[in-house]
Amino acid sequence: MPTKYRYAEMTWPECDAAAKARKVAVLPVATYEDHGYHLPIDTDVLLATEICERAVARIPDEAVLIPAVTHGYSPHHMDFPGTITIGWDTFIRYVKDVCLSLAHHGFDRVLIVNGHGSNTSPLDMAARLTVVESEGRCLAATVNHWGLRPVREAGKEARTSGFGGTSHACEYETALYLALRPELVQMEKAVDESTPLPPSFQTDLLAGKRADGSVASVMPWWSSMTESGVRGNARAATREKGEIWLEAAILGVIELTRELRELALPARVDHH
Ligand SMILES: [Zn+2]
Repeated sequence: MPTKYRYAEMTWPECDAAAKARKVAVLPVATYEDHGYHLPIDTDVLLATEICERAVARIPDEAVLIPAVTHGYSPHHMDFPGTITIGWDTFIRYVKDVCLSLAHHGFDRVLIVNGHGSNTSPLDMAARLTVVESEGRCLAATVNHWGLRPVREAGKEARTSGFGGTSHACEYETALYLALRPELVQMEKAVDESTPLPPSFQTDLLAGKRADGSVASVMPWWSSMTESGVRGNARAATREKGEIWLEAAILGVIELTRELRELALPARVDHH
């Protein structure tokens, strides 16, 4: 039998063996929300779970795939039908409890792979709290899939939209969906929509922040910034770009899993 990599399919002795083998617990997290007229509301969920599934499948001796947390923090999207949001504190404590459960069973590394921008801050807190509340026994790390090193690299090469073209239901997300479930993408309804914001408040998934602005952030109600729900250029998306970015994301999760697994720290010192 090939090595199992899906936590949900393991027996409890197999879960125990995975923890004892110091496999990294890879946890996809996302949300359900509007993604323009052309993409389903499960976009963030599909992208995060498929990237993790494919990455962990390639390294079953180094990682296990934890069932995804599919509901996330998205109150500013509630003007758009379809969105489901969880209170910020409930969400943080929920994700932290998942991580601490894994820590209780002996997993000492958790990699949270996020597919929804506004989960970023609460997931950072959930990861930190996992480290603190496990007394440092479990190091939880978090990454957005568009922040993975190979994705940022491939992003520069393959994208055709300008700055701001990859933000939400955009060139990047649409391309990835096209690579995964093309039959569900209604490309004829894809738009190119962006709101002019001052440089410090502009963001781009693949490029990050603008060089001519401060690293600042503000999050207005989504419906005040976009008519369709899209921010970016969904029209620029192609399946070919999606396949490039999907492979980059898979390689990125593998690379980061290995970095986290190798991370060795001296013991904590209380200097009182
Ligand atoms: Zn999205």
